[in-house]
Amino acid sequence: MLNLNKKQKQHLKRIVLALGLFIVLFVLQRVFPLENLINRPIGWLLPCLLWLALYVFIGYDVIAKAVRNLFNGQITDENLLMVVASFGAFLLGVYNSLTKAGAEGFDEAVAVLIFYQVGQFFERLATEKSRKSISDLLDIRPDYANLFKNGEVQTVMPDEVKTGDKIVIYPGEKIPLDCTVLSGESTIDNKALTGESLPVEVQENSALLSGGVNLTGEILCEVTKEFYDSTVYKILDLVENASDKKSKAENFIAKFAKYYTPIVIILALLTAIIPSFITKNWQTWVYRALSFLVVSCPCALVISVPMTFFVALGKASSKNVLIKGSNYVERLANANLFVFDKTGTLTKGEFEVDAVYPEERKDEILKLASIAEKNSSHPIAKSIVKAYGKQIEEGYILTNFAGYGVKAEKNGEVILCGNKNLLTKENITLPFDEDNAIYVAKNGVCVGYITVSDQVKSEVNRVIGSLLKENAQTIMLTGDTYKNAEKVAKACGVTTFKAELLPQDKVNEVEKMLANKKQKDVLCFIGDGINDAPVLSRSDIGIAMGGIGSDAAIEASDVVLMRDNLSDLVAAKKIAKKAISIVKQNIVFSIGVKLLILLLSLFGITNMWFSIFGDVGVAVIAILNALRLSSEK
Ligand code: ADP
Ligand code: MG
Repeated sequence: MLNLNKKQKQHLKRIVLALGLFIVLFVLQRVFPLENLINRPIGWLLPCLLWLALYVFIGYDVIAKAVRNLFNGQITDENLLMVVASFGAFLLGVYNSLTKAGAEGFDEAVAVLIFYQVGQFFERLATEKSRKSISDLLDIRPDYANLFKNGEVQTVMPDEVKTGDKIVIYPGEKIPLDCTVLSGESTIDNKALTGESLPVEVQENSALLSGGVNLTGEILCEVTKEFYDSTVYKILDLVENASDKKSKAENFIAKFAKYYTPIVIILALLTAIIPSFITKNWQTWVYRALSFLVVSCPCALVISVPMTFFVALGKASSKNVLIKGSNYVERLANANLFVFDKTGTLTKGEFEVDAVYPEERKDEILKLASIAEKNSSHPIAKSIVKAYGKQIEEGYILTNFAGYGVKAEKNGEVILCGNKNLLTKENITLPFDEDNAIYVAKNGVCVGYITVSDQVKSEVNRVIGSLLKENAQTIMLTGDTYKNAEKVAKACGVTTFKAELLPQDKVNEVEKMLANKKQKDVLCFIGDGINDAPVLSRSDIGIAMGGIGSDAAIEASDVVLMRDNLSDLVAAKKIAKKAISIVKQNIVFSIGVKLLILLLSLFGITNMWFSIFGDVGVAVIAILNALRLSSEK
């Protein structure tokens, strides 16, 4: 069930081993005090050293991180809190051993770190899982590598391969690790990595990036970087740390931790010092201060809030929705103004040529239209080129007029193909007035028109219905004629629509809506990106269709529906809402429990164990609460 990678397995092993040793020492200490083994004055050193060894074994990475952050001036770090608290407890243990009979207090010091690691383990588990669904979606994560060793090929996980190892990459396989070619020749498709669609030729000594696809030949390569340093991993990391795109909740927590941690440390110091002076019982008060430190660690929040957002990103990915940052999760949850583009978004964007007028010049009209439409990515253009179905004459200078149509020019010959506004704009009289017609004109004279039709997507009614049920507004914007727009708007069930808009008009409409909306309203524009990339980037959330949409749209958008299916939008919104409610629950729950234990520990009603479970228990519950999101159906 748990699919752990090598690092996670090691981490888990370390925790289990430390826990086992902890229990052994803990029990031994109670039935057979180790300090009695050797004579009194130095007898305590034996348990002390054993506990110290365990302390370092389970905590070395936390200690290293804390020290590193301390030197970088990051004193707000939760690792530091943990190390200060546990090390303090350890010193108390030493003091206990020196003054009293027993070696007490070491166990608490070690327990703090063991349980802190448990929290860390769960956090990484969740992050890794989400990262996997995101990369599955991006489809660049390699699943295996063919390790070449002693003349044999062995299939292993990419993270088990070391630098200098040799791997074989067969045609059709993903390149699992950054490497250089030792022998063989091939072509590589790096599209998923770089967006460059032309394959590159590689031969001996060529450097390969992980995440590309080997297209043609079998190659033997030497690995140059381990998986965690590889290009693929870095890209996945980038997605994970869409860091300038933090949600408000995350920013709040980060700020909170920044002020909170120093305050807690000062309070703990005061607790340790002032009552000690008054009561002279400094041991009790130092102990209480340390308990206070442990329970006040903001781990539960610092870990669970960003994690919940990340799990939400992963969960959305598994539903074929790529969300580019946690701030969009937050906005999506609150989105209530949905502005849709028509073609390719509400409709299939798969036009069919219905008829050509005049019928008897069909071939000539389609031929002229195809010349002009040859390079256009508009679905109408594609349908015309398809209907013509023959070799298209080359050598024309082609111009695209977004929202109007296209123009082709060669040696003084001018072909226009587009809606009636295009012809009106060029002062060409329309011999026929058809609403859903694409007119074709040659040298200033309209020679005929083509009618095309598109269909409303099957899921649209349900999607609009469920948005309306949440009291959202749905608006359709289109460059199409009023009549066509009205027909489609009715079929979809949207609240309102605006027609005959050029791409710039769409931006203006959205600007107007943004200016008029209430503060808490969130405007979401959904488009296929053909002719609407500017609006995508202007709205609160730009949602693009990933399948048929253009690359520019995917760039300009904040959320991508990879399957072009609008029901995925509803699913993603649900996930976002759930994530926000989990974040709220976790904030209230962890702050509540912590405040309670803080008070109790100050008054000495609870001891360090309570604090440990109060801290780690709360963190684990918060993390499990966040994981509820990923297991949701
Ligand atoms: P929508 O808002 O429905 O996505 P567009 O802005 O993409 O529409 O296009 C608006 C109108 O402009 C289309 O309905 C069509 O009449 C015309 N048009 C745009 N591009 C082309 C093209 N390449 N060929 C013919 N007509 C076009
Ligand atoms: Mg469009």
